[in-house]
Amino acid sequence: MNVHANLTSGALLVLNSGSSSVKFTVFRVEPEGREITPLFAGQLTGIGTDARLSAKTAAREPIADESWADRDTGSVPVLLPHLISWIERHLPADLPLMAAGHRVVHGGANLHHPERITDDVLAELETLIPLAPLHQPQNVAAIKVLAESRSDLPQVACFDTAFHHAQPAHATTYAIPRHLTEAGIRRYGFHGLSYEYIARQLLATHPDLATGRVVVAHLGNGSSLCAIKDGTSIDTTMGFSVLEGVPMGTRSGGLDPGILIYLMRKFDMDVNDLERLLYHQSGLLGVSGVSNDMRVLLGSSDPHCAEAVDLFCLRVAKEVSALACSMGGIDALVFTAGIGEHSAAVRAGVCAHLEWLGIELDRARNAGDEALISTDASLPVHVMATDEEFMIARHTVDVLTNRGDARHGPAAQIEGASGSGEGCCTAPAQAQET
Ligand code: ADP
Repeated sequence: MNVHANLTSGALLVLNSGSSSVKFTVFRVEPEGREITPLFAGQLTGIGTDARLSAKTAAREPIADESWADRDTGSVPVLLPHLISWIERHLPADLPLMAAGHRVVHGGANLHHPERITDDVLAELETLIPLAPLHQPQNVAAIKVLAESRSDLPQVACFDTAFHHAQPAHATTYAIPRHLTEAGIRRYGFHGLSYEYIARQLLATHPDLATGRVVVAHLGNGSSLCAIKDGTSIDTTMGFSVLEGVPMGTRSGGLDPGILIYLMRKFDMDVNDLERLLYHQSGLLGVSGVSNDMRVLLGSSDPHCAEAVDLFCLRVAKEVSALACSMGGIDALVFTAGIGEHSAAVRAGVCAHLEWLGIELDRARNAGDEALISTDASLPVHVMATDEEFMIARHTVDVLTNRGDARHGPAAQIEGASGSGEGCCTAPAQAQET
């Protein structure tokens, strides 16, 4: 494993590895690591069933849409070296692949900042697998494959948990016996790379809000909300696992823990049954019985679909109120991620429950997905595009150019962000949903 090389210019690969798919973005880095520009992005999907590669340039022009089923032996580790070769064939001749940055779901209690991967860091990431058994193994596997097949490439791990590490103990502690808290059963929070990107964008575009109290609603397949005060995470809705908080595409969100005891006793459910139920059969899919996709629910006349959307909006609104409480008030609400950025109906549904907070949407602005969707008299409500891949790229370059420590604070500016930070070549589906 190359732990010494520095990245100052070249191509940088950002990987988001899941069990049946790998999402990637390739960036051009120059000069001295100051500018980071997306080149192309894509995803390998259906690994193990019917693998397929699709990719687009930063200008959204398709450069691949092909079956890889013939190479598919059912695993990410087998296909990843092929993917690296494909990427290298599509790089400009003067732009060698210099490094890789990974989205890693869990940094645990100790890894608070992006880390250059060493044998010690890798060993620590492996100890965290029990905390995120559905996601962490895929992240670790991708790092190992790259370390073996491309030992010349330095690698950096960026954690979904890291942005939340400074939360006060009363936000991270469950009301359970202390020895269990000390054994690591505490609230960690996720979607940190998205929240960090939004916090840094706010600093660039709304410096007044960057030092204020902002609730960010990251609403996608995986959804959570975060209370950001003075650029720092104060509280968030996901906790020990990516199940807590609001209902999601197929995940339950928070529910009465007594239900789990009841299901085990009454229906003899074991750990696998519960995992399947809570991660894959619940949420919008469970309530609607139709789909986990918000677009499908909004377009359906089935009353169960409408019920799922209503339930989602109420639960999101309740969390906005709870997080405002954690910050002692709220100066703005920000919607982001697939649903937050694109669904005027869901934003309206959420905000209808928040009029008592002084929130009033401007219909035309909301329908147009404008950056500011509230009326001039309202508490400001913004729509902002998130870009976790850019955040990983920025961190990776900073770590490899030894600028990391200076940039970890909330005051760090987004530098060299491509365009308006609209995630210009973010692929539509996520490899790793958190
Ligand atoms: P992930 O959590 O996998 O990153 P995304 O942020 O891509 O997910 O969000 C996916 C969700 O966004 C899906 O439920 C999808 O239906 C929803 N979505 C995307 N575009 C729209 C739209 N125009 N209207 C409503 N929902 C949308």
